Amino acid sequence: GPEPVRETPRRRRLTVVSGPSGVGKSSVVAQLRLLRPEIYFSVSVTTRPPRPGEVEGEHYHFVDRATFAKLVEAGELLEHAEFAGNCYGTPRAPVERALDQGRPAVLEIELQGARQVRAAMPDARLVMLVPPSWDELVGRLTGRGTEQQSAVEARLAEAERELAAAGEFDARVVNADVRVAAQRLLDLMEQDFS
Ligand code: 5GP
Repeated sequence: GPEPVRETPRRRRLTVVSGPSGVGKSSVVAQLRLLRPEIYFSVSVTTRPPRPGEVEGEHYHFVDRATFAKLVEAGELLEHAEFAGNCYGTPRAPVERALDQGRPAVLEIELQGARQVRAAMPDARLVMLVPPSWDELVGRLTGRGTEQQSAVEARLAEAERELAAAGEFDARVVNADVRVAAQRLLDLMEQDFS
């Protein structure tokens, strides 16, 4: 019989989720993963040492500075940035593959990386997660207990810079409730789901 017609799936838009450290990006993204397992969630490369409970290849690919520099040199990162003394970057190939397969893809990255994605892929959708209030953010960052005081201060300084850039984003989602925020994010993405 005739070959079945295989339509090439439409390439999806990339969604970038950004927002200050402590705003709850990871929780919102984890909730989004539960809601939509078909989404590809990028696993970043970082020079930051793993926190207790973090799993290689799941939360991050943990590498040393020399390895990170080689990835940058080889053009294997879609974007990369230094944040609070550590390097972070998005491996390019898995994201391209997912989008080419018609899968929605989500990156959870900081502001400098979001700007690089905007420049490289102008149709990417940039969403900034914002805290209900500044005090709430300070409370969350201080109460996390995973960072030294100096690291908390570095992250608060970065947080202030990130929030000041909220206007550059296509949408802002307030994270007062993880489920509500994840659903709002999904609503924004769903315009692209067929
Ligand atoms: P953390 O050390 O708390 O896991 O991450 C610190 C910051 O780096 C967070 O804002 C996180 O979203 C961001 N980040 C994680 N992976 C990447 C990445 O691949 N690229 C960029 N630019 N930022 C990332």
